[in-house]
Amino acid sequence: HAEKTKQTEKLALVGELAAGIAHEIRNPLTSIKGFIQLASQKKGKDIPPLYIETILEELDRIDQIVGEMVVLAKPAPEIKRKVHLDKILQETVNLMIPQALIHEIELTLEIEPGLPYVIGVSNQLKQVFINLIKNAIEAMEHGGTVMIKASRRSGNIVITIADTGRGMSQETLRKVGTPFFSTKDMGTGLGLVITFRLIQNHKGKVCIRSEVGVGTKFKIIFPAGDESEQ
Ligand code: ADP
Ligand code: MG
Repeated sequence: HAEKTKQTEKLALVGELAAGIAHEIRNPLTSIKGFIQLASQKKGKDIPPLYIETILEELDRIDQIVGEMVVLAKPAPEIKRKVHLDKILQETVNLMIPQALIHEIELTLEIEPGLPYVIGVSNQLKQVFINLIKNAIEAMEHGGTVMIKASRRSGNIVITIADTGRGMSQETLRKVGTPFFSTKDMGTGLGLVITFRLIQNHKGKVCIRSEVGVGTKFKIIFPAGDESEQ
């Protein structure tokens, strides 16, 4: 039934990913191999720092891809509990402040008081917000603002993450969330795949609005927990 479908879905995703991983990991491996071959021809002479730098960068890339694969492949679903999103959002924003500061980006957080809890896994929810805020920051080259808001709407909690970044074209919008789709030089194209999965795992919905040169707004809707149990 539901479990079975989930399993099948997971297998399909794994298959889809496997093809991509082979490609995404082979590229850096090929370049690492090339630089090590070049270095080995330099018998006795100093190895140019550029070789080492490139090798380390490419290893980092593999490390990043494998790290994100681990998140995707995580087996046994973690136990769901009452999670207070105001706390999670505040913690996430605190985590992202250094990265925002470096890029001269302002992070604002506005939480409606008395927000109901959601049933979920706090680490997974944190991962969702980290991925979205990270993308928002990366969409702004010359400073800007990321506005994060959480409010209640009837039986739901609505979270919006809006940036004043470069925005997305129709084509990009269509492709986001496809494994390995990235428009960034150093992107893995796995962030939104993971994000959408985790939101789905919390019975949530996502809606994206974006305009090139103006910005992007992600709206996430989670069903609120039972308030009588608050
Ligand atoms: P990555 O960040 O590694 O590229 P993601 O899955 O997180 O992978 O995002 C996929 C693509 O979606 C990005 O490369 C970018 O083109 C687009 N994107 C995601 N979020 C935003 C945003 N806030 N503003 C503009 N483009 C975005
Ligand atoms: Mg990303």
